[in-house]
Amino acid sequence: MEAEEVDVALIGGGVLSATFGLMLHMLQPDWTIMGFERLPKVAKESSNPWNNAGTGHAGLCELNYTKEKPDGSMDNSKPIDINEQFQVSRELWSHFVEAGVLGHPETFINSCPHMSMVHGEEDIDFLRRRWEGLKENPLFAAMEFSDDQEKIREWAPNLVQGRDPQERIAVTYDPTGTDVNFGSITRQIFNYLEFHGVFVETSKEVTDLKQNSDGSWTLRVADHHRRKEGRAEDKFVRAKFVFNGAGGWALKMMQKAGVPEVNGYALFPVSGAFLSTTDPQIVATHTVKVYGKAKVGAPPMSNPHMDARIINTNRSVLFGPYAGLDPRFLKFGSWFDMPKMIRTGNIMAVLNVAKDNLALIKLLVGMIFMTPGQKLRELREFSPSADMTDWRMIKAGQRAQIIKTNADGRGGKLEFGTEVITNADGTLATVLGASPGASTAVPIMLELLERCFPDKIEEWTPKIREVIPTYGKKLSDDPQLAYETMKKTAEVLHITAPAPVTQS
Ligand SMILES: Cc1cc2nc3c(=O)[nH]c(=O)nc-3n(C[C@H](O)[C@H](O)[C@H](O)COP(=O)(O)OP(=O)(O)OC[C@H]3O[C@@H](n4cnc5c(N)ncnc54)[C@H](O)[C@@H]3O)c2cc1C
Repeated sequence: MEAEEVDVALIGGGVLSATFGLMLHMLQPDWTIMGFERLPKVAKESSNPWNNAGTGHAGLCELNYTKEKPDGSMDNSKPIDINEQFQVSRELWSHFVEAGVLGHPETFINSCPHMSMVHGEEDIDFLRRRWEGLKENPLFAAMEFSDDQEKIREWAPNLVQGRDPQERIAVTYDPTGTDVNFGSITRQIFNYLEFHGVFVETSKEVTDLKQNSDGSWTLRVADHHRRKEGRAEDKFVRAKFVFNGAGGWALKMMQKAGVPEVNGYALFPVSGAFLSTTDPQIVATHTVKVYGKAKVGAPPMSNPHMDARIINTNRSVLFGPYAGLDPRFLKFGSWFDMPKMIRTGNIMAVLNVAKDNLALIKLLVGMIFMTPGQKLRELREFSPSADMTDWRMIKAGQRAQIIKTNADGRGGKLEFGTEVITNADGTLATVLGASPGASTAVPIMLELLERCFPDKIEEWTPKIREVIPTYGKKLSDDPQLAYETMKKTAEVLHITAPAPVTQS
């Protein structure tokens, strides 16, 4: 069968494909781009606002990003790095608001202070030292610390209401935090791209991809509408470059492509659920995101948090996540996702992870069988006067965490970040892993462009700088630039301005 020819094919209609499509269209408007989404609409999996927590991850509140070194000092390199990356996303979104690609900022980003909360002297000491290490950095200059319940009440009254006044708690509070609707960003970008000739065909699933002798790829695309009507002919598309933005199915697509770069990789699915409330009194008083500390042995993504959410101007509050076991890699995936992923190259890593992470598996199983009383107890660690009748359980998206085989090819371990993988000739690229993927989508795509198009990047750099003026610079090294950049993006995005820099 004849194959349609395009320069670039996008697999998947999530925030990563949208961001990549937009950036490439901006840099090389003469290239033809075509996308495929297996579901009837884009942004229905992890990027959907109801399937993630909407935290604009900037290292302001995620305590698992900070590591305590053996000598007791704090290693804050990760929160700083994530914040740097989030500023890059803010710059691109600001540019596209000004350019009219993204609508009113309120439709996708809203101010929502980020807090961390801990209980007991040991963790209070940890939080204080984390804050002391961060507050000198210009990206964290607005962060405050308090272990005074009356001060905490001003920031988040629900954390204190009904709590024993003698109980020792402490928080950090950063007013520059945000709540982000990644689904809205995805839909707005795809609407814009469609208007400019970049179509994402929905209900179309890429079922296979093979590399041709000239380096291009032929994708086999199944049409779910036609299949339902019994007209099952698939179409073929030939693309010079493929961005595999299939989310939880990204590894599966790389395995179908037969690229050796993913040998030894596997995925570990963790499903998530949140308690949610729209109770007017809670929603009006809880306007922050509060992250706690994960329990010993618990994975970072199980950090409990109580989050204000603003979705399509409607406010709600989430608490969770309650992790669970579900073998699918996408919410609308297949029950056979897990067994079909197994290869000789990754089986040892999977077995090793199962053996080494019995505590994690026990914790996940424990969460599945949690009684409503146990769930309420967890919620009340944050909000002591919470009443279960105000809350209902909602299912969030699937996280597909990376399992990576060790360098010696023997065991393997579970990884909690995201990883860009490209094939040897740079014609196929993907991103594996979950958080903080959506918040850092823009720097992830910059890395991908640099790796896959090394001969174009010099030509593209002036255009990239128009959109991301700090491209190639480190804001932490330049307090004035950090302040001015955050101030500019805060003005455009209508979010809280940074604290002015104080030169020491
Ligand atoms: C519970 C939870 C909470 C999270 N919280 C946060 C948070 O607070 N902040 C944050 O920044 N990130 C968060 N994340 C992570 C974030 O949601 C993801 O990193 C991001 O949405 C991934 O975007 P994506 O485009 O890669 O994947 P997705 O949005 O999952 O999109 C992939 C798309 O590809 C489609 N697809 C798959 N295979 C095919 C195929 N063969 N053919 C055609 N289409 C295909 C799927 O249907 C899907 O629409 C969270 C994730 C979860 C699950």
